[in-house]
Amino acid sequence: MSGIDGYTKFVNGGFGKKIAGTVGLPQPTVLRRYAVGQQLIEGPAAIAGIGDAPALDAVRSVLSDAGANLVDAQSDSEYNEKLSAVVFDATAARTLDQLQQLRATVGPAMKKLGKNGRIVVLSAVPAEETDVEAAATQQALEGITRSLGKEMRAGGTANLLRISQDAPDEALEGPLRFFLSSRSAYVSGQPVTIGAGDVPTIADVHVPLKGEVAVITGAARGIGAEIAKVFARAGAKVIAVDIPAAGDSLAKVANSIGAVALQLDITAPDAGERIAKAVAQHADKLDVIVHNAGITRDKLFVNTDENRWGSVLDVNLQSQFRMNRVLLDPSVQGGLKDGGRIVSVASISGIGGNRGQSNYAASKAGVIGMVRQLAKELEGRNITVNAVAPGFIETEMTAKIPMGTREVGRRLNSLLQGGQPVDVGEAIAFFAEPASAGVTGQVLRVCGQSQLGA
Ligand code: NAD
Repeated sequence: MSGIDGYTKFVNGGFGKKIAGTVGLPQPTVLRRYAVGQQLIEGPAAIAGIGDAPALDAVRSVLSDAGANLVDAQSDSEYNEKLSAVVFDATAARTLDQLQQLRATVGPAMKKLGKNGRIVVLSAVPAEETDVEAAATQQALEGITRSLGKEMRAGGTANLLRISQDAPDEALEGPLRFFLSSRSAYVSGQPVTIGAGDVPTIADVHVPLKGEVAVITGAARGIGAEIAKVFARAGAKVIAVDIPAAGDSLAKVANSIGAVALQLDITAPDAGERIAKAVAQHADKLDVIVHNAGITRDKLFVNTDENRWGSVLDVNLQSQFRMNRVLLDPSVQGGLKDGGRIVSVASISGIGGNRGQSNYAASKAGVIGMVRQLAKELEGRNITVNAVAPGFIETEMTAKIPMGTREVGRRLNSLLQGGQPVDVGEAIAFFAEPASAGVTGQVLRVCGQSQLGA
């Protein structure tokens, strides 16, 4: 239970569980997290869909590859065993009446979901519909999935995968695997769109980043250190970047995973050139850039001076522009290759705003704007650009929050606990994988479906 907060540990012990049950206190479940070699899901999966459910073939293939027992769910089915997952293909739904099928099929299956269960709803992209009722029906699926996320129990999650008309059949596999697996432990109630892309077959699901070279900024501690570890576990060669003052911890992280440590303040005007130089020294190409380094300088807006404003915007956003400009220049040796990946770390603060964080929220909302626009610009080079927006993650950054506020932030989400840095690492690795070639311009919240930043 390392990294798990004290209260969660307490209510998962015999005595604590009893007290929490009697008094009606929140009872967070210790979430299942990924370990190398782990099975995709532990028990049977119920699958069903509307009409000819065109995406179910891909679902069957992923689940049978993973050795999962499949149950074809029918309306009002009864189940003998606990289920691990429910996948419902609503991509063919065109009328509101058809949503009754989802209710009648997913309802009974949901009741039988075991601990850390998964619901994945597959939909079309509402904006691609030409018929008004079809667009309303497809949009309704988001409302349903978000609500299911809020009703899941015992560490379960519910997410929505929107499959564009342009997405090749293979594009579903990577996202489906991520959302079914324990790698998405702290992601719930989120929609992700899958579009066009040149998606290769997955050679080994346990080392999806084998042979890839990734630069990760802010890697000396917290979330960045964990991203670096997840990338190394997934087979990537990592170039770990952090400020010179964090040199010792950076070296420790780098040594533990065989990474290259690069001491660099990313706000330096030549940061992009220095990263490219380091890449060129240690590898022949750059596959992934992870913009993770970030700072907070919280104050109410009226008390925020030029320095607090400027430093946060510079580290969290403007430096990314400068580095991207260099690393995206095809003539730069050590720059990002075509078909590469950019993943930026945003925050739910950049989605919902936060008291005392107008500078930080500006920078993180700016990251989201940058990612969406850059994704369009780089489509022609098959470079995907995505952002992960963490909620309350247990790090030194959040340990500094006063206790009362910290406890509220930690519990006000569907999973009743803070996330672990590894949860952010897993989501970033998902975007970075070759199998995610169809996923671009997306912002994925890793927040346990937090009600803050909503
Ligand atoms: P952290 O403070 O523990 O780590 C940030 C790292 O970035 C540090 O190692 C720091 O030295 C490095 N860094 C800062 N300025 C730098 C610079 N100019 N050049 C190079 N490196 C620099 O923070 P964390 O909690 O691990 O956060 C990582 C990212 O996640 C940040 O972008 C943060 O805004 C974001 N985030 C965190 C949370 C959370 O709950 N912890 C929530 C939402 C978003």
